Amino acid sequence: MSTSIGFIGLGNMGGPMAANLVKAGHRVTGFDLVPAALEAARAAGVSVVATATEAAAGADVVITMLPNGKLVLDVWNAIAAHVKPGAIVIDSSTIDVDSARKAHALFAGRDVLTLDAPVSGGTVGAQAATLTFMVGGDETAFARGEPVLAAMGKRTVHCGGAGAGQAAKICNNMILGISAIGVAEAFVLGEKLGLTHEALYNVASTSSGQCWALTTNCPVPGPVPTSPANRDYKPGFAAALMLKDMKLSQAAALTSGASTPLGAHATQLFDLFDKLGHGNEDFSAIIQFLRGGNEG
Ligand code: NAD
Repeated sequence: MSTSIGFIGLGNMGGPMAANLVKAGHRVTGFDLVPAALEAARAAGVSVVATATEAAAGADVVITMLPNGKLVLDVWNAIAAHVKPGAIVIDSSTIDVDSARKAHALFAGRDVLTLDAPVSGGTVGAQAATLTFMVGGDETAFARGEPVLAAMGKRTVHCGGAGAGQAAKICNNMILGISAIGVAEAFVLGEKLGLTHEALYNVASTSSGQCWALTTNCPVPGPVPTSPANRDYKPGFAAALMLKDMKLSQAAALTSGASTPLGAHATQLFDLFDKLGHGNEDFSAIIQFLRGGNEG
């Protein structure tokens, strides 16, 4: 069924996501602050408008895909009065859990459904419509939003009430940040002990050390030909984005009182790596920093 969709934030992720909604037969009206993003969206069949409120007004579904929680709250506040009764508003950005809950609360008591629905899968997944959506919100909102999300992804998981999607996203990425450093440390130790990369890979990938950071995003060239290490650590998932998600996990740990010592340490290491000028490299490049040099 063709739905009218307002899409706000047409960047590296939002641009291709909006294009996939057009391909699925929806009528998409888009807005971004950057003219080049608007042009690319127009070329993909999106009707572009001059303000976020114009994109939201009259739409059955409004989607935001923005850099951070403050911007999401700014935009949701700006459009709130223009969202029509019966519509659903979905934020797919990766943001802090508190801001996500505040965004849901903006529409409390109104005939408007809301979801937080952050994604994993990166720009490749956004282009190929193979994203995974982690969704927070009530059952009614999930049932209403799922068919729209399905046009942009291959998997949609209902994680619980308001903010639960963001909570799942940052917990998952905290596992990834910690495990990536663990895998990199193991390769560095193996090198010192005279182990070949292949030998360690062949054992760990079929033993209890097995994890995504090893078998998909292997930090050394060779064992997994598609991993960023084979193309000079071109992302992939940029270290700066990993740092953003690690910082969100630590902010959530602080406000919720959770103890996450390895999350805290991994955040410090990615922070240092970013400050040394490696934010645009794939996060697996942290192995070069762990080898003790800054030559990476
Ligand atoms: P991006 O910077 O490419 O895109 C964000 C877009 O939002 C930009 O085009 C910017 O102009 C626009 N924008 C900012 N403020 C705006 C406003 N007030 N009104 C309208 N548009 C505005 O970022 P991205 O890579 O597309 O990431 C978007 C979100 O998705 C982030 O929260 C990010 O953490 C998350 N995410 C990114 C990836 C990835 O691999 N890039 C993966 C998963 C999740």
